[in-house]
Amino acid sequence: MKVAVYGKGGIGKSTTSCNISIALARRGRKVLQIGCDPKHDSTFTLTGFLIPTIIDTLQVKDYHYEDVWPEDVIYRGYGGVDCVEAGGPPAGAGCGGYVVGETVKLLKELNAFYEYDIILFDVLGDVVCGGFAAPLNYADYCIIITDNGFDALFAANRIAASVREKSHTHPLRLAGLVGNRTSGRDLIDKYVEACPMPVLEVLPLVEDIRVSRVKGKTLFEMAEYQPNLNYVCDFYLNIADQILSEPEGVVPREIPDRELFSLLSDF
Ligand code: ADP
Ligand code: MG
Repeated sequence: MKVAVYGKGGIGKSTTSCNISIALARRGRKVLQIGCDPKHDSTFTLTGFLIPTIIDTLQVKDYHYEDVWPEDVIYRGYGGVDCVEAGGPPAGAGCGGYVVGETVKLLKELNAFYEYDIILFDVLGDVVCGGFAAPLNYADYCIIITDNGFDALFAANRIAASVREKSHTHPLRLAGLVGNRTSGRDLIDKYVEACPMPVLEVLPLVEDIRVSRVKGKTLFEMAEYQPNLNYVCDFYLNIADQILSEPEGVVPREIPDRELFSLLSDF
């Protein structure tokens, strides 16, 4: 199964992805997480360092795919989760979609693409062109990370539109939203009432999640010596279990921008 995690920049995609990946591995699945953001820190809390990107490696090998070995690009992270960073095109030039395409092509050549029970793509979500939507070509499910604010829900709505568009040609469903770093959910609820989709989980702001980024560790690793954090791991296990149940999900019908502005405004 292939899952693409989308959401506004800084909303917590990589944090959530890493912890969901471990949760899936805890459920006995063989998991690969692919970072598809030029920020290339998707897998940082899984491996504890910034692993070389596919694009860097291909450049070093002069784009000779046959000279690239799995160990050049696939790094084993915490909990047995395998990690790949696609990397980004040169700033201001090239296309993120091309990078994702090259990554999938290389993983196929290495016979790695079909070896996993679950591949999780961690993708940036300010979808402005087809390139950013490229991982949806490979995904069975999309998950959107949002908070209870206007900007993240605005981004979520654009991602929903991309899912609808791709679902014409691919068997893709939106599994639902994950609320992150938020205690209130009034705007999330308003949005899903207007644009029906499941809310898989809502995580509060947790100081230890912020700290996990600085420590380069996932919550599951931290919980080994801070058992009081097991309740946070349960949020991620709950999301993982919902994915594994292969939910029906939805093909969303996004809200026109102007309607979204008035829906999420108080005036
Ligand atoms: P993205 O991948 O969407 O750009 P990150 O996963 O890198 O975002 O998260 C950005 C920052 O927010 C990180 O420092 C992370 O530790 C922090 N963070 C994410 N989720 C939470 C949360 N629920 N509570 C507190 N901090 C969080
Ligand atoms: Mg990220």
